[in-house]
Amino acid sequence: MAQAAPGSGIPIGRIFGIPIYLHASWFIIFLLITLSLRTQFTSQHPGWTPAQHWMLGILTSVLFFASVIFHELSHSLVALHYRIPVKSITLFVFGGLARIGRDASNARQEFSIAIAGPISSLFLAGCFWLGAHFFHGNEMVSAASGWLWQINGLLAVFNLLPGFPLDGGRILRGIAWGVTGDFTRATQIASSAGKLLAYLMIFVGIWQALNGNWVGGLWTAFIGWFLLSAAQESFAQVAIRSTLTGVRAEDIMTRDIPTVTRDMSLEEYVHEVLRTGRRCHIVTGAGRPVGMITMHGARLVPRDEWANTSLQAAMLPIDRIQAASPEEPVLAVLERLQNEDINQMPVISEGQIVGMIARDTILRMLQTRLQIGHLAEP
Ligand SMILES: [Zn+2]
Repeated sequence: MAQAAPGSGIPIGRIFGIPIYLHASWFIIFLLITLSLRTQFTSQHPGWTPAQHWMLGILTSVLFFASVIFHELSHSLVALHYRIPVKSITLFVFGGLARIGRDASNARQEFSIAIAGPISSLFLAGCFWLGAHFFHGNEMVSAASGWLWQINGLLAVFNLLPGFPLDGGRILRGIAWGVTGDFTRATQIASSAGKLLAYLMIFVGIWQALNGNWVGGLWTAFIGWFLLSAAQESFAQVAIRSTLTGVRAEDIMTRDIPTVTRDMSLEEYVHEVLRTGRRCHIVTGAGRPVGMITMHGARLVPRDEWANTSLQAAMLPIDRIQAASPEEPVLAVLERLQNEDINQMPVISEGQIVGMIARDTILRMLQTRLQIGHLAEP
């Protein structure tokens, strides 16, 4: 499932165990903001040297993005407080993005995670405002903090606009969830508000551009377009959730389980894969399942050792296999497959492997159900 915003980039470190990334597109916005700050400082303080204009431009720009990370970190820390994992924080062309491991469990959590961001930006705005007003002695400090308090204030206000995926949209979703008690309905409301907001921004942006403000107008329209695709994506995620709700592992697993014996060599196994096109097998010994072997596992062994390596040595032993139970909801299975980055897992009932469940089977079934609707259901 494509994400509207990037998931990774250049790692720059970890804070509270959360990896922070710079996406390639971030360098564009960093350059633009630095250049515009340098221009602003040059016209407001012609007495400074060019080196001072540049240096303060870069430093202020860095502090701005540190503020964005601070904003994303506050969302993340509230999520961690509720034991919701946070995978990463990424800076990209439209700002920051905290990748939260799963949806909140209830309306209160959703609301608290969302509101933490704008509150942290308002807090920073307050700190920089104090800096701007109490460091009159140093022109450079007050010039930088003068810009930083305004931009953080703007960031808080913009993020409070009530359209998903902005924080305001999440706050709206939290409130709607609390009122209706229905997560799906709440997401639809917040996404619709988000789409409306996005169309409004695209319209205003184009109008500005046609009236001479090319750069500002196009930028507004671009952010609107980004918000639109993110709002549409959140709609899609809700569709996935409601489509897979009630489906259990045994409803979707394949019951025919390809097996191979443990004394087979890896060389022979690869031929078996080439012959049948199946990439994952249960390894048996004395008629009982003892492990699992995949093409991915085979590739971990150097090519010239394939002939002399048995499946017994290369397989994942049965006690280390991630398995599903027949009653486990498919949504949970899919989440585990994605988190562990594996493609399939066996379904085990009372010590017996009764089926296999694969990521692409789930996605194919999802696609079919979304295409034909719920025709097949009673
Ligand atoms: Zn936020």
